[in-house]
Amino acid sequence: MRPKKVSTSVRTHKKKAASSRAKKATNTISRNLLLPDKLLPAFFQNIQQEDLVILFSRTIEQSPIAIIITDKSGSIEYVNPSFVKIGNCLPNRVVGKKLIDIRQSGVSAELYAKIWKLIQNHRFRQIEIKIQKQTGKIFQESARIQLVLNHHGLPSHFIIFLENTAGRKLSEALIEHMEHYDSLTDLPNRRLFNQRLLQHIRDAKQHKHKIGIALLGLDRFKKINNTLGHETGDLLIQQAGKRLHQNLNQPDTIARMGGDEFILLLPNINSFREISAKANSIMACFAKSFTIDKRELHIKASMGISLFPEDGQNSLALLKNANAALNEAKQSGRNVFKFYTAKLNALATEQLSLENDLRRALENNEFLLFYQPQVNFKTGNIVGMEALVRWQHPHLGLLPPDKFIPLAEETGMIVALGHWVLRTACQQILLWHQAGFPHLRMSVNLSARQFQEPELVESILGICSETGLDPRFLELEITESIFTKDIHITNMILQWLHKKGITIAIDDFGTGYSSLTYLKRFPINTLKIDKSFVQDCLINQDDAAIVSTITSIAHNLKMHITAEGVEQQAQLNFLRNLGCHNFQGFLFSKPVPYTDFTILLVEGRSLDNPTA
Ligand code: C2E
Ligand code: CA
Ligand code: CA
Repeated sequence: MRPKKVSTSVRTHKKKAASSRAKKATNTISRNLLLPDKLLPAFFQNIQQEDLVILFSRTIEQSPIAIIITDKSGSIEYVNPSFVKIGNCLPNRVVGKKLIDIRQSGVSAELYAKIWKLIQNHRFRQIEIKIQKQTGKIFQESARIQLVLNHHGLPSHFIIFLENTAGRKLSEALIEHMEHYDSLTDLPNRRLFNQRLLQHIRDAKQHKHKIGIALLGLDRFKKINNTLGHETGDLLIQQAGKRLHQNLNQPDTIARMGGDEFILLLPNINSFREISAKANSIMACFAKSFTIDKRELHIKASMGISLFPEDGQNSLALLKNANAALNEAKQSGRNVFKFYTAKLNALATEQLSLENDLRRALENNEFLLFYQPQVNFKTGNIVGMEALVRWQHPHLGLLPPDKFIPLAEETGMIVALGHWVLRTACQQILLWHQAGFPHLRMSVNLSARQFQEPELVESILGICSETGLDPRFLELEITESIFTKDIHITNMILQWLHKKGITIAIDDFGTGYSSLTYLKRFPINTLKIDKSFVQDCLINQDDAAIVSTITSIAHNLKMHITAEGVEQQAQLNFLRNLGCHNFQGFLFSKPVPYTDFTILLVEGRSLDNPTA
């Protein structure tokens, strides 16, 4: 940039240039400009015409706005000193030239071209453009074009007012936006991504979280660009960006790295399962095709993931390693994601195959229910049971629920699985009723994900009426997490179930962080004290206090209490003294298959008859 040198020379020439310009301007203006006498304020009418011309020409000379006057063909006749200043050039370099031909560092060629085009098309108005300089700074340029008519009412000149473009920045907010967001997709750009990553690294160090960095590239994007053109390519990038953005949850960030690459910042990761679930849901964004200009494009993506702190301590290392993982994903046939760490890839593969197996498990009848007795403290008798699902995996053996329930929840398969559990449990309790134990009640776990299903109530009531089970013998165990969802819908569902006679228990009570007010607002019958509190209630004062507090809350609200995880006689005594109603635990029985449970019933197992 040369502005300093030029402006010094402008200053030395200033006086001479000003007087010759004034002369020329006076002549030009007096010859051609229409001076609308009638519109002039009254005091101007006492001034001689000649003085008025001098006054007007001085006004133009001293205007802080850069002014160009051209003839009707667009040839420059006059430029004022402000133009000389912002355009970094003397009048003799531009006067006599066509607007379209001038090149100055102060005003962009793009703006001249726009003005020229408007003049050619006889359109006179305000135009504004935004220019990003090589330094990255963004400026706004604007011009207003005015047509001047002569005495005969015919076009004679154009006056172009240029804003002081070189120095004037866009509004702070707009600059901030353009400096941090990608102009094609309006997603955060690399700069903003790096800022956020730095911030999250600081937080993660403090809170011992992990951060996932997922670099995503559209597969074979170059081919699309080459065959269908860059415009289609741009539209595809916009649509892909939009989809990825819509799929995001707070506080995740998606940014565009440039070209066909996006990068996702996934902070607050606590487990491998969490990051792999997120990776799956990102990849699922490409399951559906994109429609661009009525053309259907099946686009897939590959993704490479690095994790803080394992794969790098700073953004440079994390990005480098995510990039290495992305290359590996592309080399391994595309449309996949890869972790930078080999061990995680092995885990991801294992999970993927488990997910595939899970999809087939229902059809293959691989699930079964175990039942754990619930015993009344006072009578010592079995009053009901909790149905607990197991998966008889063809190769891995009998899997406990924590090996597959979270996966079933993430993939949505829990809805079908939950339905199966409910139907099987209802059929089973009916059989036990018919076998001479008509007062037993069945407790079934309901996942929060099932609560989001619009058909939940219908499906539960449908099962009751199909099997012929009186809903009074069904208890649904839900966790506090459902009270953090849509309270209105939750309330409606609970009221419906309550009206039909189904009872509701809060499972793992005390482990969530929800407010206790829901206990009053909703029809809840039972609080289940989580086994983590029961197990330590004799050795840890805090746990003992929690158990006793939960018990008094339940008593005050006239609710039932079931304690779970009772393994020792001393725990049993402690809970009995607090006034708990029921318990379940290994002390009495582990969860068992229905055949074994039937034996317990037939043999009359009770607290007084422990070895029956
Ligand atoms: P939960 O509902 O809290 O179930 C109680 C868990 O505690 C069961 O584990 C049970 O075997 C275990 N347990 C019972 N008594 C004792 C004891 O004295 N000591 C110890 N150490 N553990 C005891 P399980 O069967 O592995 O189930 C784990 C979790 O899986 C359940 O926790 C429940 O959240 C979930 N789950 C099980 N079946 C289903 C189902 O059908 N649907 C849904 N959504 N979740 C289920
Ligand atoms: Ca439960
Ligand atoms: Ca529990």
